[in-house]
Amino acid sequence: MASLTQASIRAAELRKLLNKAGHAYYVLDSPVMEDAIYDSLYKELLDLERQHPAIISSDSPSQRLGGLPAKDFKSSKHRIPLLSLDNAFNLLELKAWHSRIHKLLESDQSIKRRDRYLEMVGELKIDGNALALSYSEGVLTKAATRGDGSEGEEITANVRTIPSIPLCLQIKNPPPWLEVRGEAFIPNTSFAAINKDRDLKGENQFANPRNACAGTLRQLDPKVVASRNLDFFAYSVHLPREWINQSNSLSNPKEQWEALKWLQKVGFKVNPNNELLKSVDEVERFFEKWESKRQKLPYETDGVVIKLNDFSQQQEAGFTQKAPRWAIALKYPAEEAPSKLIKLTYQIGRTGVVTPVAEFEPVALAGTSVSRATLHNANRLVAIDLHSGDTIVVRKAGEIIPEVVRVLKELRPINAKPLELPEYCPECQTKLSRSDTEAATRCMNTSCPAILRGALRHWVSKSALNVEGLGSKLITQLVEQGLVKSIANIYELNAERLAKLERMGIKSAKKLIIALTESKKQSWSRQLYGLGIQHVGEANAKALAKAFPSVNELAEKACQSPELTKPIYGIGDEIANSLKNWFSNPINQKLITDLKRVGFSLEATEEERKIIDEQINKGESLAHGKIFVITGTLSSFSRNEAKTLIENAGGKVTSSISANTTFLIAGEKAGNKLKKAIALNIKILNEFELKQLLST
Ligand code: NAD
Repeated sequence: MASLTQASIRAAELRKLLNKAGHAYYVLDSPVMEDAIYDSLYKELLDLERQHPAIISSDSPSQRLGGLPAKDFKSSKHRIPLLSLDNAFNLLELKAWHSRIHKLLESDQSIKRRDRYLEMVGELKIDGNALALSYSEGVLTKAATRGDGSEGEEITANVRTIPSIPLCLQIKNPPPWLEVRGEAFIPNTSFAAINKDRDLKGENQFANPRNACAGTLRQLDPKVVASRNLDFFAYSVHLPREWINQSNSLSNPKEQWEALKWLQKVGFKVNPNNELLKSVDEVERFFEKWESKRQKLPYETDGVVIKLNDFSQQQEAGFTQKAPRWAIALKYPAEEAPSKLIKLTYQIGRTGVVTPVAEFEPVALAGTSVSRATLHNANRLVAIDLHSGDTIVVRKAGEIIPEVVRVLKELRPINAKPLELPEYCPECQTKLSRSDTEAATRCMNTSCPAILRGALRHWVSKSALNVEGLGSKLITQLVEQGLVKSIANIYELNAERLAKLERMGIKSAKKLIIALTESKKQSWSRQLYGLGIQHVGEANAKALAKAFPSVNELAEKACQSPELTKPIYGIGDEIANSLKNWFSNPINQKLITDLKRVGFSLEATEEERKIIDEQINKGESLAHGKIFVITGTLSSFSRNEAKTLIENAGGKVTSSISANTTFLIAGEKAGNKLKKAIALNIKILNEFELKQLLST
């Protein structure tokens, strides 16, 4: 737990930053940070305030709701306060909420005895803007934004242009007054059109549909609002308690589920995906179902809202200052979150490239706990201006490797020092080299233990020689104890020596020797890939192995006439140069000799040559005739290289997703195209899967 002084310093920083972000978000409709980052920092502030209530100040965002009404509109006092919702960020927090409610209500035996005790309604949390609509004798008389919860902006003329909001209720003998709450939103297609139009006019783009909606509702000209296709889902109704409808069956609803039906009957659009839920298990199922399905909805949602169904149970549970206790917003896992940097470490890959890695306090991202993320290279380190003790924003979407996206400079400690790459290799102390042509910083010492470990890991990996039983820990021991100095050395180990290593016994040592012997039968293309030549990934290794069925042929062409390697599909200048450099290096020439000595043929077998010939004659791969779109950053080849590879395999690459697209190749930082592909149910492949497809 932080000390009072530490907590009060951090809370002051957080208040300053969150108040600035809140103003940008609520008043200017132009957020300065992602919602998930805001939520996470806000949660940190709440935790500090909970631990040390003395630090709560009146300017804390925890003490007020939303934003102040904009000056351009008349302010309007709400008949019933319009509150926010408390958040749960995972199912554990949802369960904790459910047990709190249970505790709160269990003392009231009359409530507890009811059959439908703690029944809930699950609704989608529409990512728009709350509206309070007032009807007098069934006619819309006033519409207001939420504002600070007790007072909002009166925007009646604008709201009248929203077609799904009834100007007049479909009910005979309506109640004298009626308040309806719901969410105004902009459908995704309209949002895209608005931003495109703004782009053409040179205006700033809206950050997301929610901000576009807020900005639109605050337009001074209702005609502009009418042109923007706003929509509305109603989710709650308040009417005089004593009201009884004389002429038809509609009576005052007593539960949320009835209220939703009621709203529908009098003419409101109610979200069709709401569900009545009888247990926490059912809530879990509802939440999980919408986690993927929501991507296909034509509007944005950022979670589900779970509400107690019975109004008398709601009343008993009551409200906190900012939100009802009887409801909770269960948000979907964030893909970005802030965290505190602990230290910067450096990873040296098998090609000697030094990658800075940030180690930070663990955060939950895309459903997993993350505490390390790459910074790619020195340029990135400088670009984000990383300092010791910084609060960083980390991103991880789905399968994508976590990365540091930026730094929250406002939260930087005084005296923080800028961080940079070291001058010397942290493993072998050789001076690191940085060329002008690439962003990478490298250790050029081919006997650097880190490079050797990387080369060995690559050689034994599944896609290369696939040697089972030779994991990273064993490799580290072999290198540290000087038992292995090159890839070929692992084939000279004997079971007795291996058995003496930590966590090894004679049985596993013998198994490993068998696996190593078996690996000599792997195909020529796998052997070539296993050598770890820069830019020669699996697909390129297959193409090269087809064109040059032995290492001698490949080495001769690569060194003497590298231009002859280029007509092979996917092989450009970069790869041709890399092959030339690799094969002319005496250390690698010795490796080839040593590998042959320990029993590798380094050439295609008769069988392989036959298969290759058949494939060449057939000339088709799985990519043949398929339409591809590439998005995001690919790590083993540029987009152009990927395009060439696909085209050479008979596929076509287009720039935009449509129903005709067969595959979306999604690299790091895939954005809208990925969302669109999910919505259209298009098969998404990562880089590894693309390579596999191309090599079939
Ligand atoms: P909220 O948006 O998290 O939840 C409350 C709102 O949910 C309600 O006001 C209502 O408008 C909406 N809602 C949607 N569907 C609903 C349904 N079915 N039933 C009930 N309500 C429903 O809370 P908030 O107080 O409006 O805003 C806080 C959020 O705003 C934060 O969690 C954060 O994500 C975002 N925010 C972001 C920044 C930023 O800088 N990016 C700044 C301030 C706030």
